[in-house]
Amino acid sequence: MQRLISGRCALALAITCAALATSAQARDKIEENNETIYLARDFVFVDSPAIEGYLRGVCKRLLDAKGVKSDVPNILVQSSDAFNAFTDAHGNLVISTGALRSLESEDELAALLGHELSHLILKHPQDKDAMRALPLGMETISSMKDAAAESQGRTDAQATSVLWSDFIAPTWNRKQEQEADENGFELMRAAGYDPSAFGQLFSKLQVAEQKRSERMQVLKKALVVRLREAAPVAKVQSVALSNSVTDTASEKLIDGLAAFNRSYESPDERQTQLAAYAREHREKKRAPRPETGFRDALQIGEGVAMLALDGTALSTLDAIARKNTAAAQTAVAPLGGETKQLSAHLNLALGSYEQAYGKPEAGAAAAEAWLQAARPPAQAFLWSASYKVKGRDYQGALDTLESGRKRVGDSTPFLPTLIATSRASGNMSLARDYTKECRSESSSMSDKLQSVVSKQPSQNTLYAECVRQLGEKPTEDAVTESVVGKARESVFNLLRKK
Ligand SMILES: [Zn+2]
Repeated sequence: MQRLISGRCALALAITCAALATSAQARDKIEENNETIYLARDFVFVDSPAIEGYLRGVCKRLLDAKGVKSDVPNILVQSSDAFNAFTDAHGNLVISTGALRSLESEDELAALLGHELSHLILKHPQDKDAMRALPLGMETISSMKDAAAESQGRTDAQATSVLWSDFIAPTWNRKQEQEADENGFELMRAAGYDPSAFGQLFSKLQVAEQKRSERMQVLKKALVVRLREAAPVAKVQSVALSNSVTDTASEKLIDGLAAFNRSYESPDERQTQLAAYAREHREKKRAPRPETGFRDALQIGEGVAMLALDGTALSTLDAIARKNTAAAQTAVAPLGGETKQLSAHLNLALGSYEQAYGKPEAGAAAAEAWLQAARPPAQAFLWSASYKVKGRDYQGALDTLESGRKRVGDSTPFLPTLIATSRASGNMSLARDYTKECRSESSSMSDKLQSVVSKQPSQNTLYAECVRQLGEKPTEDAVTESVVGKARESVFNLLRKK
């Protein structure tokens, strides 16, 4: 690659060379980080050192009480109204602001964290890597949007990220859940918390799981529809038979991708099991009750102010997505004016409102301010770049996009816009260079798998989208097409044999 670029530089103008070199250097440095899966899927994270520090402290207390030699996970506070908390294989603990708003005591929080930490401590294997199974790609993004429209009535990034977190959260079986409850109980008791808080938590989790499983069923339906359309025509006479064969195969494949059909014990059953465990494992000595910082961290001061503003921001985005001007105007009020910006992520709601109904320049400023967040997702960079393109600052836009893909650690969300922007700036050779990159991304394993779930593989891949951004018509790509065709055939044949 380096040789190719130097060779071309000998012929091209110096300025183009510099741009090419920059893009080549940047490319070398794009490496996934442990937050990439979230940042590339537009998760919005809250910056709140106070809340993160508090949660870290409770985790540490739970781990230390039992002498567990494991690191406290990287705490990621996700801006979402869904009740969400999970640990992942990358050392993160994701907890939603919706969960933080609904917890009523540190005991309840400790029950939640104790349970999630226990999955890590007990080394419950994540036998299904959901991200490998359903990689980020044009087609997956469309399916997520279909499902978001169906389940939430909106298709913006905030709505699709709820589905992504449903999907990313690992899936455990009943036995593993029971083990995590019991181990979490032990952690709580050793740390001096009141394990009876599990009761309240179970009821909240039950409601959250019900909602999640409804959303997952909608997503599954959207994926099955796409997969069915991608299925090769079965060599059977009856159309009805052919359809039912394909439906069964599609459903099986989707179920194989992730655990869409999950069953949970009811809160009462979990409570009963845990009570039985407690009776069998009595402890005479009670650990002293810890000093709790719950009120200070989440119920008064900056923590609660931030959680309230986050709720306001979520309502604003919801109203904008539903085109409800009056509701948006009411919701956005506390975010503007004199209010101190407690977290850079609040700029998303503020700027989206300005962009839709207010002053565009205020929107541009908000997009820029969001980039100052500790964890800006792909959409923050794309948004800021879009304002720069509008102002014809193409180089500024390209720089923003380049720094975006480096920070996020994934090129997929950025390449089509990088091509469109280089093209708008008149630098076609740079645009073609980026398009080549799409091609190599498209031949990756994840894109092949991606194409299995694709309606029209040659038209709907990242590469095809990139070629369209280049202003050309995507041609049938023989290599990609045959690879995709073979992959599809083998998957369907395998499923038919079962
Ligand atoms: Zn669990």
